[in-house]
Amino acid sequence: MSNSTRFEVTVLGSGTSTGVPVIGCSCDICKSTSPYNKRLRSSIFISDKKLGRNILIDTTPDLREQLLRENIHSIDYVFFTHTHADHCHGLDDLRPLFFRERKTMKVWADPDHEIELRDRFYYMFRDTGYAGIKPSLEFLTKEELLEDFTDPFIETASLPHGSTNSTLFKLGSFLYATDFKTFPEELIEKWKGKIEVMIASAPTYKPHGTHSSIPETIEIFKKLEVKEGYLTHLSHQVDHKTHSLNLSKNIFFAYDGLKLQVNP
Ligand SMILES: [Zn+2]
Ligand SMILES: [Zn+2]
Repeated sequence: MSNSTRFEVTVLGSGTSTGVPVIGCSCDICKSTSPYNKRLRSSIFISDKKLGRNILIDTTPDLREQLLRENIHSIDYVFFTHTHADHCHGLDDLRPLFFRERKTMKVWADPDHEIELRDRFYYMFRDTGYAGIKPSLEFLTKEELLEDFTDPFIETASLPHGSTNSTLFKLGSFLYATDFKTFPEELIEKWKGKIEVMIASAPTYKPHGTHSSIPETIEIFKKLEVKEGYLTHLSHQVDHKTHSLNLSKNIFFAYDGLKLQVNP
């Protein structure tokens, strides 16, 4: 990696809600021995080399395995896209990070999702009389988030995702958007030609009830004129090696452990 690279973005997981292989499934992809077809639940880790701080987006049920695999032991910020189980049920696995480093992690989720997280993980945010070490998590307001992320500027937006919504995170020219059915036209107008690297979800080839499909997400990459687009939140319909051959040269399937050098 060159010294000038600002962000190292690691795909911790590239799988849809079940992960791949799917429990009980004996399809060719679930039985595949290729590491590119093994997908933990979707999340990313951003190491900001300039400011020396680390950002985790989502705490999947596979978080423990993901942090061990990537040797991650320090996280400064945790952002949540939404509160579906595959994006937040690993929150407790942040606990060992506090054994060594008693540092408060700053958390941001959109206000509706914050209420939901505080409710679902009430024991982390209230005094329950527990004598052991609990993570110290502090929710930021939107104003505090914007104050902490001015270089590059952070932008968030809400995307429709079935009966709920999901938050996308844009840091300069880097965009992470997972779990959305459609991508608002006004955002396409606003960001067209301004995105260098985008990672976006696309579980299936056929239309999906609550998700953008692979052809639909590719269309979004094209409309936004992204320099590099990575498809994530993939199901067991995707065979990494053979299906990659059908993608245009600036579009890729993400995979677990993929590292991207990004100058946002
Ligand atoms: Zn999901
Ligand atoms: Zn979801």
